[in-house]
Amino acid sequence: MKREKNSRVTDAAYDEILREWQNGIYRINLYIILITLCIEIVFMFILNAKGTISVPIPQYIPLYILRPTLCNIAAFVLCVWLNKKDAISHSIRAMLPLVLLTVIVSNLIVVHYVFTALYATIIVPIYVSSIYGNTGITKKLFYLLMPVYVFDIVCILLTPNKNLPSEFPYDVLVAFLMIPLSYLLVKNIVEYENKKEQLILTRSVENDKLREEIKVDGLTEIYNHTGLFEYLDDKIDHYKEGQQLMISVLDIDFFKKVNDDFGHEAGNVVLKALAKMMQTVSDEVLGNEEGQKVLPARYGGEEFSLVFSDMDMQEAVSILKKLHERFAKQTYPGINRKITFSAGIAHYEQGMTDQMFFEKADQALYRAKNEGRNRIIIAE
Ligand code: GH3
Ligand code: MG
Ligand code: MG
Repeated sequence: MKREKNSRVTDAAYDEILREWQNGIYRINLYIILITLCIEIVFMFILNAKGTISVPIPQYIPLYILRPTLCNIAAFVLCVWLNKKDAISHSIRAMLPLVLLTVIVSNLIVVHYVFTALYATIIVPIYVSSIYGNTGITKKLFYLLMPVYVFDIVCILLTPNKNLPSEFPYDVLVAFLMIPLSYLLVKNIVEYENKKEQLILTRSVENDKLREEIKVDGLTEIYNHTGLFEYLDDKIDHYKEGQQLMISVLDIDFFKKVNDDFGHEAGNVVLKALAKMMQTVSDEVLGNEEGQKVLPARYGGEEFSLVFSDMDMQEAVSILKKLHERFAKQTYPGINRKITFSAGIAHYEQGMTDQMFFEKADQALYRAKNEGRNRIIIAE
């Protein structure tokens, strides 16, 4: 049984979302850089006006404005440049915005060491890393943040004329402990989210399977009535003027007598044989990018159908004739009778509904039966 294309979200779509998110986080990083720059400038004027500025303006500007901003911008440009390089690996590309964020928060911590509450911002990149749903990336970031934080504290301690608050050692320690705690928490959340996602995926695969199964006939394993009409509707929905679409309706001749004379089981063997032959002729025709060009279905008891697309009526009729000949030649154990089918075939015309299209082929089948059975009639 051939399956229709799976329409679930592809990896490419997932990558696209991730790329969008990465562009977003670069933008946010840039905003943080610009906002901190603005705040520094505003602070400078306010503190200067109040006379509480720690250092004179000529020293304030390079120390609190130029140096951190240049450092942030350099990190930003470097990360954006690296991100554009094709050669860098997937995991490094994923780390770049997080590393950039780490540089920005480190700058904030070192420059504004007086505001010890800012030390806790070192954990922000860990929480942001959860977006990847990859504990490996979060772990790498955790290993990076520990030495970076130690480096920040060393930088603070090396600051000349520093004015450390009395709680400084405790605040440093508390923020430091928040790094492994945040890592464990984020790791837990990511693992939980991944398990949930896996479960949803499994359910979705199962649902797809179920949806496929209700379209398949249990006896012959080709499409049933539901499968046939879903397929037809899809073909008609996507039909464009000038395209070729044909349907044939097949009905086994005097099948009731086969059942009556040889039993229901023997009848089933015949039904299965015809379905198998239909599948074989369908497989013998090379498919196109949309899938198979000939779709077999059993839409009723001893009533079958073939849908032909992307070929002309002549080719469709020659396939139908080939099937007709093969079926008539087939022999079955315990059935000493030649079994044939009658068929009607119709061409799709723009504007027809599935029922109108099917009806047209069914009318041709009716004629085939009336004109003596064991024949193919092309609808006018
Ligand atoms: P005609 O040439 O006019 O089509 O004659 P017919 O006997 O084939 O048509 P009719 O509609 O009178 O009989 C169809 C028979 O198909 C009746 C039914 O018992 C049989 N049938 C329907 N479904 C199945 C099935 O799943 N297995 C078997 N063995 N027989 C079935
Ligand atoms: Mg019938
Ligand atoms: Mg019949």
